[in-house]
Amino acid sequence: HAHTLGDGLVPLINRLQDIFSQAGGGIADLELPQIAVVGSQSSGKSSVLEALVGRDFLPRGPDICTRRPLVLQLVHTPYGAHHAHAAAHHGGHGPPAEWGEFLHRPGEIFTDFEAIREEIECETNRGVGSNKGVSDKQIRLKINSPHVLTMTLVDLPGVTRVPVGDQPADIEKQIRNMILSYIKRDSCLILAVSPANSDLANSGAFYALTLSRAVDPDGKRTIGVITKLDIMDRGTDACAYLSNEVVPLRLGYIGVVNRCQQDIAQRRSIREARAAENEFFRHHPAYAEVQHKCGVEALGWTVSRILGDHIADVLPTLAEKVSKRREAAAREMKELGEGRPDDPGLQSSFVLEKLHAFSASFVKCVAGRNDDLNTH
Ligand code: GDP
Ligand code: MG
Repeated sequence: HAHTLGDGLVPLINRLQDIFSQAGGGIADLELPQIAVVGSQSSGKSSVLEALVGRDFLPRGPDICTRRPLVLQLVHTPYGAHHAHAAAHHGGHGPPAEWGEFLHRPGEIFTDFEAIREEIECETNRGVGSNKGVSDKQIRLKINSPHVLTMTLVDLPGVTRVPVGDQPADIEKQIRNMILSYIKRDSCLILAVSPANSDLANSGAFYALTLSRAVDPDGKRTIGVITKLDIMDRGTDACAYLSNEVVPLRLGYIGVVNRCQQDIAQRRSIREARAAENEFFRHHPAYAEVQHKCGVEALGWTVSRILGDHIADVLPTLAEKVSKRREAAAREMKELGEGRPDDPGLQSSFVLEKLHAFSASFVKCVAGRNDDLNTH
């Protein structure tokens, strides 16, 4: 069973998010950092995002497919908690477990992920024409699923050097600025995607890192992702990069193998793709030493660990806020006289109790996982 952003930390983080959403009273939600992919065109950005989510739904291909930013809001939705509307659209097969909704098509429920991909393609063309035009106008897609964390991913157009089709002469600058406007936020986790098949030392391949360094010079929120390890020149490998020896990144690198264009044409499933990736790493002697930095599963764990660390960082402050609010409510209650069972003081102390028990186990869990990683 492959690890994606759907497994692992899901139950923990979702319960924490539930607890905070009950706290009310101006306490911020437990927001996870946004995750954005950056890199040159066709480096495999959409493939990486899709693999992380564990579902097929993004346009991918050798041409420029992602031509508008796609803001993908994942919403954890327990089984059965579907919109009444969603059930009606599902033709009597019971409520859908997972469904998508586009901001530009309010109320319309997509349960077929193939139809989601088609709609992304159509809406891209509607916004910028079908001749390779690029725009910073977002497409917003919300995916409700029991298998995801409530968080936001952003698929961005890749950097191109030479204008084609309807692209303006300054296409490179335009795309660059668009990408920077997303990744400059401190709360954005950057997946900097570099394809291994082009010579990695070549500056084009590492364009992603040049961009991320501009906004994250200390590398606190950049993970290097090296794609296309399967089609490197025979006799070469990316081990030195994965071992962080060439262009060191504080959070390091993960190498992945996603589906090639033929796999896409033959509709090879995500599951098959993961099996093929496992085979690749198992049989490639060069990667034996860096197994824990190889594969989408490892990427999923790495991202989860970073999200976990982030939560462990912000938990004390949030707990403090809940606590302050409880005290304020208690004072208020005293002035008003005791008694109402639904008073906010009781509610927030209930939340606080749950939170304390829970954050302790959460921090322990995150710490435990980091120990695991360090012993690799
Ligand atoms: P993007 O433009 O960066 O979003 O890249 P895509 O995800 O659309 O992928 C571009 C092309 O590269 C597609 O034809 C993919 O099938 C192919 N591709 C992506 N990742 C890999 C990989 O790891 N190995 C191989 N062989 N092909 C890949
Ligand atoms: Mg793309």
